Amino acid sequence: MLRLTEIKLPLDHAPDAVEQAVQQRLQLPPGALRSHSIARRGYDARKRGAISLVYSVDLDLDDEEAVLAAHAGDSRLGRTPDVAYRFVPRPAADASRPVVIGTGPCGLMAALVLAQIGLRPLILERGRLVRNRTVDTFAFWRRGTLSPESNVQFGEGGAGTFSDGKLYSQISDPKHYGRKVLEEFVRAGAPEEILVVSKPHIGTFRLVSMVEHMRATIEALGGEYRFETHVTGFSVGADRHGARCIEGLHLADGGYVEARQVVLATGHSARDTMLALHDAGVALQAKPLSIGVRIEHPQSLIDAARFGQQAGHPMLGAADYKLVHHAANGRGVYSFCMCPGGTVVAAASEPGRVVTNGMSQYSRAERNANAGIVVGLVPDDFRSAGETADGIDPEGPLAGIAFQRHWEERAFAAGGGTYHAPAQTVGDFLAGRASQSLGAVVPSYKPGVTPTDLASCLPGYAVAAIREALPQFERRLRGFALADAVMTGVETRTSSPVRVPRGADGQSLNVAGLFPAGEGAGYAGGILSAGVDGIRAAEAVAASLAAQDQPV
Ligand code: FAD
Repeated sequence: MLRLTEIKLPLDHAPDAVEQAVQQRLQLPPGALRSHSIARRGYDARKRGAISLVYSVDLDLDDEEAVLAAHAGDSRLGRTPDVAYRFVPRPAADASRPVVIGTGPCGLMAALVLAQIGLRPLILERGRLVRNRTVDTFAFWRRGTLSPESNVQFGEGGAGTFSDGKLYSQISDPKHYGRKVLEEFVRAGAPEEILVVSKPHIGTFRLVSMVEHMRATIEALGGEYRFETHVTGFSVGADRHGARCIEGLHLADGGYVEARQVVLATGHSARDTMLALHDAGVALQAKPLSIGVRIEHPQSLIDAARFGQQAGHPMLGAADYKLVHHAANGRGVYSFCMCPGGTVVAAASEPGRVVTNGMSQYSRAERNANAGIVVGLVPDDFRSAGETADGIDPEGPLAGIAFQRHWEERAFAAGGGTYHAPAQTVGDFLAGRASQSLGAVVPSYKPGVTPTDLASCLPGYAVAAIREALPQFERRLRGFALADAVMTGVETRTSSPVRVPRGADGQSLNVAGLFPAGEGAGYAGGILSAGVDGIRAAEAVAASLAAQDQPV
């Protein structure tokens, strides 16, 4: 099979136009093309007046070698890559069951691959079954009653369950693990188009049933789930060579689980778990993070700015955007987790703190577009800020957690202390005055918003950088600095503030048998990359068990 890329066609092309374009580009004799299938479909909207669809096509040809030879040097023609996933062999030494902590995309994929290899993982999840979790999360959004163990961040499916379900990533993926993740998602009920479109998304509704379907598969293969099972401590001992190794896990209900291989897939919001790792002496590092706000515009404004007269075309859907600005104060400002046709969600997991994020349904049909507009920070920023919430050492590896908590508490206070989010119009923010009321853009955040001055819940350099960035973004996306556009805050959970460093064998640098993985450990940023890292973690567990098979 050969793959031909960069076939550009108009949005309204005829059904047979792809085949004709292939024939024309390769100058094939009649009958040479036996069949073809679309491998990838994206669009090129760089020229607003002439948006084109861009295809990559797999070709079943009569004589592949002749066609390759005739087009030698054409980088757009090559052999179709082999993306099939190949399981690592099942190790014999599986006396102790691997344990996976967390059922986000990382933990789910780790558990699935471990189960597929035949290693019957035990999966511990602090939150509730996804259906119960949905009830708890909606109660928070409707009535402002936060369940600290069952919310947007915690519970079956992890942080991405109430999301836009964007499934793309810019990670390097030479082994095509991303394809394995997408194929498993399709098996679990995601639409097949996610295997083809260049920016797939599934929306929150389907994610719920997919997570359930994956659970059923893992259980059928011998895996075991324990929900409402919060890991609160890590027992570290010494192996027969005297090296530190994991021995077991302490649970919130007083229970204890013996464990020799633990995949730590706890996500970026499990701050208490990071503290427990720190107490157990597991190596940790502070890492860069971001802080900012979520901005909402009418989706129709974004569609018009991106697609011009072709706005609303069914092949394009609701428009997204990606914006970056380097501010004069040295800060990078960028759009984060843009959700076309979606809603801003209350994403707090701790009492007395307010956090924003975004989600949408598959249809992306809500009135507003939303995205985080965030400013990048490095550990020195929050070390020098000296926030010491909950006794965290402001110079230590957990300093980023104290920093996030501080600003989330300021947002809670600015919102009125009821989980309403502080909000401000772009016009008022740029003018440096508090909003008394909002304008034509109705904020979608539930349980509600309080018009105020967002400068009270962001560091001064972040306010300055965002003020400078918005007019610059307006130059690239007309209407972006619309006076009535609404900003809500604060957006703090763009990534984990802590890294749990691991070696080439996938294990913690100073505790053998602990496999830090996914977003919380600093090895992923998004659903797809977290799923990919889950596969890596499962393979690392299998490799460590296989090493135990070897005679000493
Ligand atoms: P998580 O998904 O955070 O999962 C961690 C799991 O561990 C949770 O289920 C948690 O309950 C459990 N856990 C934590 N601590 C413990 C403990 N001590 N004991 C037992 N269990 C524990 N990414 C995208 O790519 N596309 C999007 O459209 C997108 N939208 C998002 C929208 C929202 C509202 C949010 C919050 C995130 C969104 N993300 C999106 C980010 C994405 O969800 C995360 O990158 C991804 O879920 C990280 O996966 P993970 O498995 O590493 O961690």
